Amino acid sequence: MKKLRSAFAAMLLLFISIATAEAATKPARCMLDGANVDDYLWELYQKTPKIDSHGEFGHKDRIAARRAKVSLRDYVLGRADCGVKKLAYKMLKAAEIEGHEPGVTTFFRDDFRQGMIKKGTRARKGWSFHGGSKRGGIAFAFDAVSRKGDTRAARLLNSQKFWLWIDEHPEYKLGRPYKNKDAPHVAPLDGLEYKLVNMRKTWKLARAKSKLHATPTAKKRFAGKVFNKKKRFH
Ligand SMILES: [Zn+2]
Repeated sequence: MKKLRSAFAAMLLLFISIATAEAATKPARCMLDGANVDDYLWELYQKTPKIDSHGEFGHKDRIAARRAKVSLRDYVLGRADCGVKKLAYKMLKAAEIEGHEPGVTTFFRDDFRQGMIKKGTRARKGWSFHGGSKRGGIAFAFDAVSRKGDTRAARLLNSQKFWLWIDEHPEYKLGRPYKNKDAPHVAPLDGLEYKLVNMRKTWKLARAKSKLHATPTAKKRFAGKVFNKKKRFH
C-alpha cells in the first residue's frame, strides 16, 4: 500500500512538472473580449513588408528568433506586454475601419536584435522600450506603418497619413513619442517612455529659459563649460 501511494505521488509530481514546463514554454495568450489579440497581430506582422531606407530587415527577426531558440511568432509577440498589445489591437482595428491598411513591423527586440539596427534611431544598449534588458526584457512599444501601396515610396506616403491619424486619435491611448525622428514608433500615452520624453522636454525648456535670463558672467561660465567639454572630447 505504501509503495502504491509513493508511486501515485511520483506520478502526480511528474504530471505537475510536465504541466508547468508546458506553461513555461507556451507564452500566455493575450485575449480581448474573446478575440485572440496575438493571432491578429501575428497576421498583421506577417503581411507587413519590412523594408526601410537601409533595405529589407525582416530577416533580422528570424536570425534573432533562431538565436533565442523560439519561433518567430513567440519572439515577436511572446514578450510584448499584453496591455500594450490590447491597445494596439483596438487602435489598428479602428484604423482599418477608417480605410487605412495598418501594419506592424516590430514588437519585441532583445539587445542582440537591437544591435543589428543601423545607427540613427537606435536606443542605447539595453534601454529600448521594445524589450531591452534594462527595461525588464518586455516590449512596451511597437512600430506601426501602412501596408497600402505597391512601392516603398507609396507605402511611405500612406504611412505618413496613418501616423497623422494616430496623432489625431489620442482616445486609443497611444501616441508617437518621437514624432518624425522615429515615425513608426508607438507607445502608450500613460507609459514610462512618454513620461521620460516629457521630462526631457521640460528639462530642455528650463535650460533654454535659464540661458536666456542668465547674467553676463553666468553666460561666460556656461560658454567656458561648453569649451571645456569640446576640449575633452575632441
Ligand atoms: Zn520602435
